[in-house]
Amino acid sequence: MNSATLLKYDQRVPRYTSYPTAVQFTDAAGPEQHAEWLGEVGRKEAVSLYVHVPFCEVLCWYCGCNTQVGRHQSTFDTYTDLVCLEIDRVAAKLGARPSAAAVHWGGGTPSAIGTKRMARIMDKLREHFEFLPETEIAVEMDPRVLSPEDIDTLTGEMGVNRTSIGVQDFDAEVQAAVNRVQPYDLVADTVAQLRRGGIEDLNLDLMYGLPFQRRDNFSTSADLAVGLQPERMTLFGYAHVPWMFSHQKLIKESDLPNAEERLMLFDEALRRLEAADYVHIGLDHFSKTDSEMTIAQREGRLHRNFQGYTTDTAKTLIAFGASAISTLPGGFIQNKSAARDYMNAIKAGGLGTNRGVGLTDEDRLRSHIIERLMCDFHVDLDAVCDQFGVPVADLAADLGKLDPLIADDLVAVDGWRVDVLPPGRMLVRMACAAFDQYHSPNPDKPAHARAI
Ligand code: SF4
Repeated sequence: MNSATLLKYDQRVPRYTSYPTAVQFTDAAGPEQHAEWLGEVGRKEAVSLYVHVPFCEVLCWYCGCNTQVGRHQSTFDTYTDLVCLEIDRVAAKLGARPSAAAVHWGGGTPSAIGTKRMARIMDKLREHFEFLPETEIAVEMDPRVLSPEDIDTLTGEMGVNRTSIGVQDFDAEVQAAVNRVQPYDLVADTVAQLRRGGIEDLNLDLMYGLPFQRRDNFSTSADLAVGLQPERMTLFGYAHVPWMFSHQKLIKESDLPNAEERLMLFDEALRRLEAADYVHIGLDHFSKTDSEMTIAQREGRLHRNFQGYTTDTAKTLIAFGASAISTLPGGFIQNKSAARDYMNAIKAGGLGTNRGVGLTDEDRLRSHIIERLMCDFHVDLDAVCDQFGVPVADLAADLGKLDPLIADDLVAVDGWRVDVLPPGRMLVRMACAAFDQYHSPNPDKPAHARAI
């Protein structure tokens, strides 16, 4: 596939960690809905849990997460107390003690509050949810703020069995340009200790599109990452949106690779990963040929949620902490984004709710189509419509939107079956957008990252 063809599709589209996406959240779904939807969670249903920690020790200038620099122990104590209070309140609305299929800690940097405080929150979760031997417990980690004792607490007392480490790039010049200085030896030591602690599922994040990345230095970074033998790797594209994250203004636009160079960087890393036996299982996700994720993808059991690709099959995700988004029977609901607003809302006796969106039957149909495309790279619209009891002809106009992708051999359509072809996999979001009823890009105020 030539780069000119791919670059035609370098547009701003959602990453589809949900459908409808967070852009559609409004105040129409607020605290009352939050409480009502929690009450609708099945009493015997296994649920997934998410805890958001919105603090980091230093800010990486490329960061697009909900976080802030936090160093005050008293703030961490208060935040921990209030998350525990939120868990108590949510559990009271559930009226049952569901089993936990998975727990995911994200941020920010979860360990920024200290692993002892994390363990307190985990104890609170164990009080209200039943943990099973097979419960997945995953933590996003920053090797710069993890001591050997922290790793022992995480893999021992807290029972963490999956981890994800942000690397982005090992090159010193790139690291300095994005304010994330994290030498290779530090990452390698952390990985070695996690392995000794029993971690058998490890993900490393790389990021392309950062300042001073070139073919030679980024391929070296990819090789070094692969050499650490993670089970999974994520290859994110840097989204430069300084109007949304003002700290990104510290990155000089003139130092950034252009669209063609970004594509070259992605392609270079892709070739390194494929040569090292990683399979491109989704948009930006790669996993070892024989890993659980690759097998799940092959068997159509992969799912997508706010944390990205997952083998977790729970339909309900209950999220705690600032900005955390829950997937509940009635729809999606998000907590207040700023740590201070969230803490004030909990102190005031609420659930920390900000806004959300209720799901219509049509949303559920389209969500399913988009999830299958994101996870399987194909979908049979006829079978899906049959399952949802709607005429497939209703989707004819959406199918027609795929024509340009078909003409460029990025997508193939046979009857009502849609296949995203291997050269189109990094653009799978473009195929999904054809089935997105809400997506209408505003070039003056883009809300999504570029497709490449
Ligand atoms: S450690 Fe992660 S969350 Fe924190 S500033 Fe860096 S990229 Fe953002």
